[in-house]
Amino acid sequence: MREANRLSQISTSMIRRMFEIVERAKKEGKEIVSLTIGEPDFDTPKEVVEKACRAMNEGYTHYTSNFGLEELREAIAERYGVHLSNVMVTAGGSEALINASLAFIEEGSRVVIPTPNFLSYFTYAKMCGAKIEQIRTHDTAFIPDPERLNEVMGKDVSVIFLNYPNNPTGAVMSEKDAKAIVEIAADNGAIVISDEIYDQIYYDVKPTSLAGYENVVCVNGFSKSLSMTGWRIGFTIAEEELLDPMLKVHQVNGVCAPAFAQKAVAEVMAEGIFNELVSRMVSEFRKRRDYVYSELGKIYDVVKPEGAFYMFVNVKEDCMGYAEKLLDYGVAVTPGLPFGNYNDTYVRISYANSIENLKKAVESIKRYESQRA
Ligand code: PLP
Repeated sequence: MREANRLSQISTSMIRRMFEIVERAKKEGKEIVSLTIGEPDFDTPKEVVEKACRAMNEGYTHYTSNFGLEELREAIAERYGVHLSNVMVTAGGSEALINASLAFIEEGSRVVIPTPNFLSYFTYAKMCGAKIEQIRTHDTAFIPDPERLNEVMGKDVSVIFLNYPNNPTGAVMSEKDAKAIVEIAADNGAIVISDEIYDQIYYDVKPTSLAGYENVVCVNGFSKSLSMTGWRIGFTIAEEELLDPMLKVHQVNGVCAPAFAQKAVAEVMAEGIFNELVSRMVSEFRKRRDYVYSELGKIYDVVKPEGAFYMFVNVKEDCMGYAEKLLDYGVAVTPGLPFGNYNDTYVRISYANSIENLKKAVESIKRYESQRA
């Protein structure tokens, strides 16, 4: 048996290796505080769960339209100030991302990905047979410099991936820079896939949405904002001409998001409790961000995360070695390598964990660093 060529450049070995290392440490009886978590550590709000249970009992257990339940699409359209026909509900943000990738990444084209970035974008580009062009952001507070984009831009670029607030850095892009990038893309006939999955988790400046631009596919969902990662509910906002090709993929891929999940979220939005549910969680994340940033800032050069629940830290040694050694001190972190080039000495720290655990982890990291010195 042989896997298809399109997968030959895609590796799962690094993630598997880290997973195995953590599992081994746990089996050896080590107590590990995990700072590797890629989802809110809160349960889905009970308001959502109750609505979903009711919806299931009412028969929301079948397919919905490929585009999603109309009442949910309407609520999303209202939030963004777009028309219902510009909204397609998907089985999570991930489904929307792969729909957009298959719809717009031409084989042999170039795909621009600012680094560091969410590892799935690299996978999508490789699966679609594209060449990856990475732009460094380490020296610009993890924000891509439009000038740098200009230098690599050309008519052979099919797609630019943007993700703000960003995983793994927590960086939030200014409206000015985001617009400049959309314009550069438009001048070259490229599509911007703007992954805004963390848009509700921000601390000071509200992130700008790029939904509504002609050449932008906006991807979002409720996995992070309502802590619903297991429910698989996301959405895409784009011009109808862009939604059409994505529908060709969606109708054979996700088909539709779970009906009861769509109904529950539609009701949350119609009742106007969405913002309140989000802000409960964000106020906790803010305390944790402030704590982790102030403490780790004493030992590393860190960029203050403005959104999401991650921090990307230069630990100034090989990230795999650091992550392995830190396990002996009872802390698991994600090495920077899967997030793109130039990340060999970086690790991602997720503060989606309790303050008690974060305190333990910070103390262990300090102990490791004092013994390393
Ligand atoms: N985009 C980014 C940047 C993410 O970090 C994640 C999940 O970690 C996703 C998309 C996927 O979200 P979903 O659970 O909605 O598929």
